[in-house]
Amino acid sequence: MLELLEASQTHIMIGCSVISLLLMFFTTSLQFHSIGKKYALLKMEAGVAVLVICDALARFYRADVIPMKLWVIETVYFFMFAMILIDECFFNEYLVSLFMSTRKFDRIPNRLALGFILPLIGLVPLILNPFTKLYFYFNEANRYVRGPFFALSFVVPVITLFIQISFVANYRSLVKRKIYIAILIHGSSPVICGITQVFVPSLSLLNLSVWVSGVILFWLALTDQNDELAKAARTEFQTGLPNAYGYTCEVDKIILRGNIIEYNAYYFDIVRMSLLNNKYGRRIGDEILYKYAHAIQDFLERDEIVGRLGGNYFVALVKKKNTEKFLEYLSGVPVEVEFNNKTEKIKVAAVAGAYEIKTKNISSGRIMGNTSAAVSYAKNIAKKPVVFMDDRLEDEFKKLRLLEEKTRKGIGRKEFEPYYQPKVNTQAGVMTGAEALVRWKKDGRTIPPLEFVPVMERNGSICDLDFYVLDYVCRDIKEWMERGIEPVPVSVNFSRRNLGNEEFATKITETVEKYGIPRKLIQIEITETLDEYPMSLMAKVVEELRSAGMSVAIDDFGTGSSSIMLLKKVKFDVMKIDKFFVDLDNESDKQLLSNIITMADNLGIGVIAEGVEEAHTVNTLSEMGCFDIQGYYFDKPLEKNDFEKKLINKRY
Ligand code: C2E
Ligand code: MG
Ligand code: MG
Repeated sequence: MLELLEASQTHIMIGCSVISLLLMFFTTSLQFHSIGKKYALLKMEAGVAVLVICDALARFYRADVIPMKLWVIETVYFFMFAMILIDECFFNEYLVSLFMSTRKFDRIPNRLALGFILPLIGLVPLILNPFTKLYFYFNEANRYVRGPFFALSFVVPVITLFIQISFVANYRSLVKRKIYIAILIHGSSPVICGITQVFVPSLSLLNLSVWVSGVILFWLALTDQNDELAKAARTEFQTGLPNAYGYTCEVDKIILRGNIIEYNAYYFDIVRMSLLNNKYGRRIGDEILYKYAHAIQDFLERDEIVGRLGGNYFVALVKKKNTEKFLEYLSGVPVEVEFNNKTEKIKVAAVAGAYEIKTKNISSGRIMGNTSAAVSYAKNIAKKPVVFMDDRLEDEFKKLRLLEEKTRKGIGRKEFEPYYQPKVNTQAGVMTGAEALVRWKKDGRTIPPLEFVPVMERNGSICDLDFYVLDYVCRDIKEWMERGIEPVPVSVNFSRRNLGNEEFATKITETVEKYGIPRKLIQIEITETLDEYPMSLMAKVVEELRSAGMSVAIDDFGTGSSSIMLLKKVKFDVMKIDKFFVDLDNESDKQLLSNIITMADNLGIGVIAEGVEEAHTVNTLSEMGCFDIQGYYFDKPLEKNDFEKKLINKRY
């Protein structure tokens, strides 16, 4: 058997080299996840190809039979020895790119640096061999003979391999098992064969074993590459968390295992991320997202999952026993950032929709759907940080869907109409404006906006309603003008959901133009909350409206979160102070209100107080310099006919 192997080795080696070259060409055409790994593998392949070609040539050479120039065969032997060392460098390069891509090291680890240095040192005695004849030489008959220190030529490669393998074994948790095994084979088989070769000279399997282990490593690296590409498809690139697809795959696995009922599912949205972006800038904003994602990942147990769907949206599957702990953590995840050379500690909060999984027969799609419905309910309707989707809520959802359907039809059937609430200037005692407040006339009932506006905000149909109201108001103003009733500027409420519409300002001017009424008779009211839209977008829209000749008011001032900053960044014409602020009646609150009025004055912004019900509030506000008032004290929102009567006279 051994003899047969010995006899056919030349052919085997030629075959090996051909396979190596073919593999190389195959590799060049492949797409690699890490380009560093691709080139390291290619070099290894080329290295072993040269090694086995040299081996074949060496075996082919018979000094007495084949007249081959001695210097050629000496070079061949030199390369045979050298390629072992050079290949070790390439193998080391592969290890470096493998471990550096885990992002656990910020520079090349010492042991891997030695993996480059030692083989290079090992080359020195080899280069000197023609003079020293320590490793090998050719005798008088031109035949190859091992030198006295032949065994030494294995010492450097073996030490290097030991160092490399000890490093890999140390960090084996960072690499996949199959790669780990391939590295072990690649590292140990040449050592075993090399040592055997020293003691059993007829058994020269070293080069063959280098080739075989090289191919194994290469092949496993290729399949690992496949896994990596598949993993990339499941990973969200910015945070490295599973993306929607990856998360669904993980959830499916748990469903298949049959223990999904041990979990609660969550869908959560970071609160006021746009404010953080405004304050710290985009780059730090991204860093916050990254750190937030990893803080949550570290917080979870091994068999719990968190994923990022994109934007500020995350999903998680957390054991039921950890519910309280998790929700507590989610209410303020600690994140640290470097800002202006200082470390700032922020607590990042989220609104969450939760779903308690009670049946094994559930799909990941249904889990996702339930949690996403719950988060939307939490944000838009309940206005609570966490909402659990349960039977009661599912019922409510059914009702909401029905309501959504009815409101949509209601717009088509023109069941909505604005009421007008006068705004009064207390110094002059006259009506100076009005606010259009929508009502839904359905089945003989007049339904107030709080019962349907949140639902319509949820599905975006509020935008249609807002333009419907604007159209209505413009028509009424035109009619008053035609009948010789002098109109007052009317403000129309627009939901923040409109800010996402690029055509928003244009559409408003078009509507006003359609009725040919002066633009200054329409004021646009936008509420202050800035959860979803960046301040820059609000600033842009307001600027567009103002340059089109419309005035813009900031509604419900004092109830949102960013009031002062907003005033600095967005130029409004009027600030409407919310009822909540107006009603505060201890001294320090009054002081605050007075300061706000003064500040608005200084910024050149008009002020109007909403929700004023009592005479003494009117007086207090007058003392503070706020003379424009809207509230039940003067009038409730009135039906068009009643409002008209007031409009004719205007005196209060
Ligand atoms: P808002 O724009 O802040 O309107 C002021 C609300 O305060 C109105 O409630 C008004 O009736 C009420 N109000 C006025 N004076 C007093 C007072 O003295 N005491 C009390 N307790 N309340 C007073 P309403 O009409 O129920 O509207 C509620 C909210 O619905 C509005 O708040 C606005 O945000 C929204 N809304 C109304 N119409 C529309 C619309 O056409 N489009 C959009 N997007 N939202 C609308
Ligand atoms: Mg309003
Ligand atoms: Mg308001």
